[in-house]
Amino acid sequence: MNISENIKKYKAELPEGVKLVAISKTKPKSDILEAYEAGQRIFGENKIQEMTDKWEDLPKDIEWHMVGHVQRNKVKYMAPYVGLIHAVDSLKLLKEINKQAKKNERSIKCLLQIKIAEEDSKFGISADEAEEILKSEAYAKMENTEIIGLMGMATFTDDEKQVKSEFDYLKKVFDGFAEKYPAIKELSMGMSGDYKIAVKSGSTMVRIGSSIFGERNYN
Ligand SMILES: *Cc1c(COP(=O)(O)O)cnc(C)c1O
Repeated sequence: MNISENIKKYKAELPEGVKLVAISKTKPKSDILEAYEAGQRIFGENKIQEMTDKWEDLPKDIEWHMVGHVQRNKVKYMAPYVGLIHAVDSLKLLKEINKQAKKNERSIKCLLQIKIAEEDSKFGISADEAEEILKSEAYAKMENTEIIGLMGMATFTDDEKQVKSEFDYLKKVFDGFAEKYPAIKELSMGMSGDYKIAVKSGSTMVRIGSSIFGERNYN
């Protein structure tokens, strides 16, 4: 893998207004630095401890995104620095994020994860549940967290029609929310295998891992 060339390729290919989140989970800091030197500044991880360890050692102008499922008791470790939390799926979690952000005298941006895939294994809430959170009094009172958009993961399948219909559905939900809630601006959808479809469906943020850094080795 030539990480630097891959970064340049995506930067050139992605339309303006679509941000590249380089998903560096399981990859060494040296790989992240290589991407950084090619101009990449937004990196995504799915484990809070791993992200914090990387944050400590790497350049401080990196924007760190948490793209994985978040356990409430670990929010405190990333609260001092996290740039965006992609997978918020409950008011309870949002409350904890707000509390920890306040302790750090900052505001933390979040996305609500909407379940669009067929698989049971994917996290997320329904569009109705997301709207319940957005219009709740509890959220209105939170001063240190802001929901700026939605995130979704399509079914893992070769059936492009199905993937497209899932992304199109999420875009429709996103457009409906954006009309009512002016803070809603970002739509995080698309990974290595399906980002082209996601971009066509209106993604503003793609999360690309393996086709930048190579296959992950979990052992
Ligand atoms: C790992 C991961 C990605 C990147 O997946 P690739 O297929 O390697 O591009 C994107 N989003 C989330 C939530 C992930 O956990």
